[in-house]
Amino acid sequence: MIELSLSEFCLAIIIAAFVLVAIFGWISQFAHHNAERRGRRSRLLCDLCLTTWEDRGREKIIDCPNCGRKCQRPR
Ligand SMILES: [Zn+2]
Repeated sequence: MIELSLSEFCLAIIIAAFVLVAIFGWISQFAHHNAERRGRRSRLLCDLCLTTWEDRGREKIIDCPNCGRKCQRPR
């Protein structure tokens, strides 16, 4: 086992805490970015009647539920 003095032990804990916070922040930012992108992909706006609706399918062309115009999914 590695021998650590008290100050080295405290320093190691502080560094570990910083690293954990940084990793957690990075993961949550990544998850937030992904969720936002997914949300934007499923939110559609008809440019004829300005209806907004959500569609979680995978089709690239979706008919507007209000006027029937074919709308393209945003990227
Ligand atoms: Zn429409």
